[in-house]
Amino acid sequence: MTKETIDLKGRKALIVGVANADSLAWWAAKHIRNAGADVAMTYLNDKAKPHVAPLATELGAEILVPCDVAAPGQLETVFDALKEKWGTVDVIFHAVAFARKEDLRGRLTDCSAEGFTQSMLISCHSFIHMARLAEPLMQQGGTLITLSYYGAEKVVDHYNVMGPVKAALEATVRYLAHELGPKGIRVNAISAGPVKTRAASGIEHFDELLLEAAAKAPLRRTVDACEIGRVSVLLASDYGASITGEVLHADAGFHVAGMVFH
Ligand code: NAD
Repeated sequence: MTKETIDLKGRKALIVGVANADSLAWWAAKHIRNAGADVAMTYLNDKAKPHVAPLATELGAEILVPCDVAAPGQLETVFDALKEKWGTVDVIFHAVAFARKEDLRGRLTDCSAEGFTQSMLISCHSFIHMARLAEPLMQQGGTLITLSYYGAEKVVDHYNVMGPVKAALEATVRYLAHELGPKGIRVNAISAGPVKTRAASGIEHFDELLLEAAAKAPLRRTVDACEIGRVSVLLASDYGASITGEVLHADAGFHVAGMVFH
């Protein structure tokens, strides 16, 4: 038997969602690169570029292009760049979420149609859009990974509109897995435990949420971004070859906790 190692050498990975060095996407990019894959990264806009470009350089990313998933044509341009440079892509890592401040901080009951639509478009439909664009570049199969959260399954105070949006994202994972599986394309979500990032800072009482997560989780701790990066490598690799349509919890077991007494 050969030595057990996770080797992504020769694989091509697109990472969307790096904002800074705290981003879960950055940790996924680092670990996927460290496992040997070639990496392409995107940045949201000109304002974000100075924060992302040095990280892309540090990683030796072969492609760095702008990508606002809500801007018509930008995702197409990203995939054109992949096609031109690589011809194929093996891994798509989607770590994109957005909700208007008033919707993230307000009740779902009060969420406007526009706010809801915008959040769904950016946080959920963009994954569908990426799957469609990736499909022709994954003739030998591939893997699509997105990030979800426990608030998709159960009510989490202050998660508000993102709860139903992440629930839609998780259902999307299952339907895409069903549709693309016959082509050898796997589709999974990582349901990550709470980690302090810029997106997380938009959620009210996030520090309390972290404490609650650590207190209730079977491992009695929260997770870190590095751990989410490692799960990304697992799903991207042949070690995850039989896993598709899955929402894999990387949350120190928090999702199994019911009533916990202290
Ligand atoms: P982050 O702020 O570092 O990443 C969010 C990313 O979304 C940013 O890079 C931002 O530029 C991008 N984005 C927003 N609107 C966009 C648009 N229109 N086009 C392209 N990109 C856009 O925070 P993060 O916590 O690393 O978030 C990454 C993903 O992880 C999100 O889907 C988030 O919901 C999910 N997640 C986070 C946690 C957590 O506790 N941090 C837990 C579970 C799931």
